Amino acid sequence: MELNSVGVIGAGAMGSGIAQVSAVAGYNVILQDIYADALERARVSIEKSLGKMVSKEKMAKADMDAALDRIQFTTVLEDACKDADLIIEAVFENLEIKHDIFRKLTELCKKEAILGTNTSALPITEIASVTDRGDKIIGVHFMNPVPLMKGVEVIRGQLTSDETMETVLAFIRNLGKESIIAVDYAGFIVSRMVDVIFNEAMKLIQEGNKPEEIDKACTLCLGHPMGPCRLLDLAGAEIAMHGMETMERDFGDEYKPHPLLKKRVLAGLLGKKTGRGFYEY
Ligand code: NAD
Repeated sequence: MELNSVGVIGAGAMGSGIAQVSAVAGYNVILQDIYADALERARVSIEKSLGKMVSKEKMAKADMDAALDRIQFTTVLEDACKDADLIIEAVFENLEIKHDIFRKLTELCKKEAILGTNTSALPITEIASVTDRGDKIIGVHFMNPVPLMKGVEVIRGQLTSDETMETVLAFIRNLGKESIIAVDYAGFIVSRMVDVIFNEAMKLIQEGNKPEEIDKACTLCLGHPMGPCRLLDLAGAEIAMHGMETMERDFGDEYKPHPLLKKRVLAGLLGKKTGRGFYEY
């Protein structure tokens, strides 16, 4: 199936990045959010990110302008849906909100449209259960920051068709990224691995270790590009907590979010998005 128009639902850290890379690859994009100020922040961040690429001579100014022209911004879900060949949902990591969106997408999108979700941990089959088109539903899990991270996890739900898989794999190739195919259980591959590291970092902090030392241990001793406290600040502490809650629900106590992680979320120490996490922004 040929894709021309991509609708992205949710204009936060992930939705804005997905809109950006899709527009750069030549797709027409409509980015939707319920909040106009989220759309404005997304527009500014996309311009800034592309502007950096131009100043580093990784992109021509004319290509940046053309990519920006291909993105429309709207608060109206119908507008994002009506012409979309592919939707990528990137709203809060909450099953009820995602179910509500997928019910609406089923009503508003063309029958042949593919409906993807960027969920970090919720099983795709569970998200698809409120629609009448499980064959068109797929997990397309981009990484943060989207323009820089090469890998995209692709998750096939119980009913996802071969055609949907092939179309999405080709879309990811067109974005210049590589797919990792993961089985549809809570957390897939990436969140199953990384959320456990986040939780372990919480235990180390509670035992008296300093976040900076934990990060240094991971970068200097293990060769990780970024330590878990810095990465948690980038991802958002609530994203990791919700991911762990989904995994705890499906696999048991091994994945229970550490009380310190919960406390930090309640205190609003989410990281970069609130200006304060383990580090100041
Ligand atoms: P975010 O909080 O930065 O953005 C979410 C956006 O969704 C907000 O702008 C919000 O206004 C919007 N939104 C909420 N309800 C909506 C609705 N009903 N309709 C339209 N828009 C709505 O979150 P994020 O970090 O971009 O995460 C989005 C999704 O991507 C989550 O499912 C998350 O688990 C997943 N994800 C996040 C990361 C990460 O590192 N942050 C990485 C991979 C996947």
